[in-house]
Amino acid sequence: MKNLLTISKDVSIKVNSQVTNFLEPTKIYLPLDEKIEIQKSKVKKGEKLYSYQNKDIYSSVSGQIVGKQKIQNTWYLVIKNDYREEDKYNGLPDFTRTSMYTNFQAKITDSNLFDWKMFKNKTALILNGIEDEPYIANKTFLHKDETEAILQMLDCLATTYEIPTVKIYLKETDRESIEAFHEYNGTFENIEVCILPDYYPIGNEKVLRSYLKIADEAIVLSTYQIYDMYVNLIRERSNDVTLLTVTGDMMEDPQVFRVKKGTLFKELRDCFTLKEGEYVSFVNGLMKREKKDLETLIISDDIQAVYFMKPLYNKTKPCLHCGKCSEVCPVKCNPYLALQTKKTLNSCLQCGLCTFVCPSYIDVANLVSKKEVK
Ligand code: SF4
Ligand code: SF4
Repeated sequence: MKNLLTISKDVSIKVNSQVTNFLEPTKIYLPLDEKIEIQKSKVKKGEKLYSYQNKDIYSSVSGQIVGKQKIQNTWYLVIKNDYREEDKYNGLPDFTRTSMYTNFQAKITDSNLFDWKMFKNKTALILNGIEDEPYIANKTFLHKDETEAILQMLDCLATTYEIPTVKIYLKETDRESIEAFHEYNGTFENIEVCILPDYYPIGNEKVLRSYLKIADEAIVLSTYQIYDMYVNLIRERSNDVTLLTVTGDMMEDPQVFRVKKGTLFKELRDCFTLKEGEYVSFVNGLMKREKKDLETLIISDDIQAVYFMKPLYNKTKPCLHCGKCSEVCPVKCNPYLALQTKKTLNSCLQCGLCTFVCPSYIDVANLVSKKEVK
């Protein structure tokens, strides 16, 4: 692995320090296999409906099933929100620290949330609290709002699987997360908070493992995975909300939204203001620059951010053969050569650094990875 880079941040791209709730979508869209027929018409919030690609699918609202719809090659079950928030659960379970651990140990045998065998015989449990994109702040909000839950879950896993070392890795620039965890200094003595320099793409698990020389016997989990485990197995409910950063240099008022999973992005459109003029939009970060139709974009765990940017990124020029894209590649790929020979790079992390440094605005990362550039 090469030396990593400190990216000079674009000061015109801001991230809000508050979360805005958007928890009343008119409808939600849940992915499903085309052949699955749902017999019922009414659903409760938190109700498990079926499995899709080995994942249990829960409704994030209570309401009426109004049909199936194919959107961008995927079928979705459409549920109309009745706004009653009729819950499958009867309040929050009461738990002490001891009962929490006992419940957790009993529940993991039935839970397909994670491959629990992976925790056996591990020497370290690592929480990767660093975003894999420079302008996304969703993990920071989870660290701030759910500090104790995250610490409890880590402690619970370490106790259950007898993992001796537990570390949380944060970036030195993520001061809010650092402060949040420091407030619990001494409460979870087995958990160490470690601070890393603001290098990119250090939040990528492969890069983090290589940078820290983390052994194979250590398990690395993201903040999202740990929090999901906590909600499912400790609070005993499905995690029906997700965080979405909406930002970019064409935004008047950058936002981080707490949204029901399955909400159509266009329902949020009245909740933020764009500057006048043309823009381009990207999903999941400025480095990765995924292009998706925002009219049909459904907010799920895989969608972490939407960017509205000046159309500069559409003004692609011919390659200058400067080689900058290959110079910066953290995994020593040669994207310049791959572009010339029209080959794909199997070991590409899709970190986007090659795209980021290209003076000709060529979307190098998406061209040399297996993804197609639309
Ligand atoms: S080719 Fe580009 S996107 Fe892929 S790892 Fe290298 S710098 Fe990152
Ligand atoms: S950085 Fe851009 S212009 Fe330079 S060699 Fe790579 S693709 Fe060509």
